[in-house]
Amino acid sequence: MRALILGGIADASSLAAEIARAGLDAVYSYGGRTRTPADQPLPTRIGGFGGVDGLADYIRREGITHVIDATHPFAAEMSRNAIEACATTGTPLIALERAPWARAPGDIWIDVGDVGAAVAALPQAPARVFLAIGRQHIAPFATRPQHAYTLRFVDPPDSPLPFVAEVIVSRGPYTLDGELEMMRRRGIAWIVARNSGGDGARAKIDAARRLGLPVIMISRPNLPERQRVESVAEVMQWLGHRTCLGA
Ligand code: NAP
Repeated sequence: MRALILGGIADASSLAAEIARAGLDAVYSYGGRTRTPADQPLPTRIGGFGGVDGLADYIRREGITHVIDATHPFAAEMSRNAIEACATTGTPLIALERAPWARAPGDIWIDVGDVGAAVAALPQAPARVFLAIGRQHIAPFATRPQHAYTLRFVDPPDSPLPFVAEVIVSRGPYTLDGELEMMRRRGIAWIVARNSGGDGARAKIDAARRLGLPVIMISRPNLPERQRVESVAEVMQWLGHRTCLGA
């Protein structure tokens, strides 16, 4: 057995730890977006495979027997490639993906299907907006320059931003108190977020509810049907191993 973890989310690191603890053979793959990715207790590779064919070649060359897609729910290209490459090579695939957040009493959500719709959902009048979306998705907001944007990135931007914005450089997970303090201090009135699900990123959603702020919530991209579980323990079971995590 030799597993390939397509990493990107916090659960992928927990899975890597559990696989290492169980002494299983596995490789952890990073997409290469983050300049200083967290160390993993497994052999690590960084960067794209070269599309579906590249991933299929990699699977064959490295003798991969199981693929675990633990990428971010919005990393749809990688997930689609994994579905296709695993079908081509006959390799079992499982996705480790937390359920999306569900609306709770007090939430003021405006549900939209993509970033373009999120831009259109912003008010016309100038507002202070927290754009809690990845750097590669911010460009369309340049068409609404009347707003004062706050962005938050893991790494400092290495090229000029498409519009003037305040940038916070930090790595989650974030706490409710921390998010409340950040939003109050910056006078945030609107939040744009993607429905990532999981605990690591939900503090901003809880903070928005507490403060009565509207959240423009971008729903997840649609993907072809695939086996999906929500916990590291279920992936370990799928690999034929018990876990010492209660996850
Ligand atoms: P994407 O659009 O689905 O992927 C674009 C390309 O990046 C893929 O086609 C693949 O290149 C390469 N790639 C992505 N994930 C990879 C991985 N784990 N290992 C090797 N290659 C990978 O994804 P994205 O939105 O750019 O995100 C890139 C990475 O950052 C993902 O691993 C994701 O989990 C992580 N991340 C993303 C977000 C987010 O907001 N999207 C948030 C946190 C973490 P090839 O076609 O050349 O193989």
